[in-house]
Amino acid sequence: MTSASPPAAERTRSATEDTAMLRTWGLTKEFNGFRAVDGVDLEVAPGTVHALVGPNGAGKTTLFNLLTGFLKPTAGTITIDAHDVTGMRPERIAQRGVARSFQITSLFTELSLAEHVELALLGRDGQGFRFWRSDKRMRRYRAETEELLAQVGLAGRARTPAGSLGYGQKRALEVALALALSPRLLLLDEPTAGMGVEDVSRTIELIQRVREDRTVVLVEHNMKVVGDLTDRVTVLQFGKVLAEGSYEQVRNDPAVITAYLGESV
Ligand code: ADP
Ligand code: MG
Repeated sequence: MTSASPPAAERTRSATEDTAMLRTWGLTKEFNGFRAVDGVDLEVAPGTVHALVGPNGAGKTTLFNLLTGFLKPTAGTITIDAHDVTGMRPERIAQRGVARSFQITSLFTELSLAEHVELALLGRDGQGFRFWRSDKRMRRYRAETEELLAQVGLAGRARTPAGSLGYGQKRALEVALALALSPRLLLLDEPTAGMGVEDVSRTIELIQRVREDRTVVLVEHNMKVVGDLTDRVTVLQFGKVLAEGSYEQVRNDPAVITAYLGESV
């Protein structure tokens, strides 16, 4: 059955409007002639959880660094919500609603959880240290801080020094710091790396909670996490897209099975 043609204005819009939350075309990063990311076309639909998987050295972290402006691409284009952000500085990309957590944790051991979150909120609002601790205006952040800590399962720990947290809790705090920026697009680099089974389950629940109203892209090695959480999976190998589809599709893809030979997918 053919449906009636939409009005001309409608047709023009659907032909030109990019509805992807994140898109890359031919994204490439060379380090001294070595292509760590090599012509990657990626499309992440709004409201989805999208996993990037692939063997060590496949280019996943480099891709994250390109998406967040920490590295400038050698070639290719990146759009966030149809806006070209290629080559923009990290702060400007963050202003477009993109936040990330890092593969390596970098917390201040002496600062409390609340202080960490307050600093992130100050950064979001473009305020400096003078504002921090200055006076009662900080109260404005108190409720928001409590709420963010509760969201990641750290309710009631506001005054605890970050250095005394367990490993899984540190990662949860990092997610809270990324969430403090109210991102529409949240990038998580190996959120469950080095975690025990219990922390992994907690992290799955955490991502389920925070995925509401936003788009999540995560690098993940744990296939239980990928299977439980993701709508779509992109497999990278040698900097290139090897396969893409649902978890079921990619795990049965012969090219993926070969790439992971000896590992269970
Ligand atoms: P993954 O996160 O998938 O394990 P990476 O993106 O960290 O992979 O690395 C991809 C490749 O790029 C690796 O071979 C790595 O050694 C190389 N690489 C990453 N960063 C740099 C850099 N700053 N300089 C040179 N080579 C790099
Ligand atoms: Mg990595």
